Amino acid sequence: MAEPLTSDEPATGRSAGTGAAWSLAEREALLVLEDAFAQHERIAVSFSGAEDVALVDLAVRVRGPDVPVFSLDTGRLHPETHRFLETVREHYGIVIETLSPDPDEVNRLVRDKGLFSFYRDGHGECCAIRKIEPLTRKLGLLDAWITGQRADQSVTREGLPVAQDDLAFSTAQHRLRKFNPLANWTGADVWDYIRRREVPYNTLHDQGFRSIGCEPCTRPVGPHQHEREGRWWWEDNAHKECGLHAQNVAEPIRIIGR
Ligand code: SF4
Repeated sequence: MAEPLTSDEPATGRSAGTGAAWSLAEREALLVLEDAFAQHERIAVSFSGAEDVALVDLAVRVRGPDVPVFSLDTGRLHPETHRFLETVREHYGIVIETLSPDPDEVNRLVRDKGLFSFYRDGHGECCAIRKIEPLTRKLGLLDAWITGQRADQSVTREGLPVAQDDLAFSTAQHRLRKFNPLANWTGADVWDYIRRREVPYNTLHDQGFRSIGCEPCTRPVGPHQHEREGRWWWEDNAHKECGLHAQNVAEPIRIIGR
């Protein structure tokens, strides 16, 4: 389990000092997390069940095991991801709130279009039901959320800031902030962190999966392919967002009921 930070390590990102134990990228992430938790009471970490486990590890170090974490269970995740969520829950002694889609909406989609309509129609409708609607419900209860997004993950994430107004989920009555502590990390930074700090990881990564989402929409990639090539591979790169981070694309996926 991630130990709370001690005086030998940065007690906080702000007091990390000049010690070599923490890289600049890690210190920046710690600072972003500290600021996020200091500024907002109604805040939670979004965890996908993939390599963003590094974010969970950092958040536990900053906030302790009562850190609020949630994860979307779309009903189409790999069994390995379910097992990994349980591993993380036990490893850190944290609660991971699982968000599920509206069963009536899922039933309607499957009845009308079958289980694999996204291969024909694009992933927007299915993601809207299985991801965006439950996320919208959750974010309506928060003032800020924390994600594991990185700028190097996709052309849609280039220039990603570490903190931003969430333009996709804010409303006229409810301003929502979004923090991306790993925005300036590379994939190599994440894996260096996971290995050095012995953070548990999803076993799908050992099978060639780099970016992990739902089982039907994720496949392994080769060593010279970009990680997002394993997601929604039948679609254009410029549209490879599922709507969780809809402001990253020019034509956001429709968000149900909004
Ligand atoms: S990633 Fe695929 S299966 Fe999962 S919600 Fe989106 S379209 Fe549906």
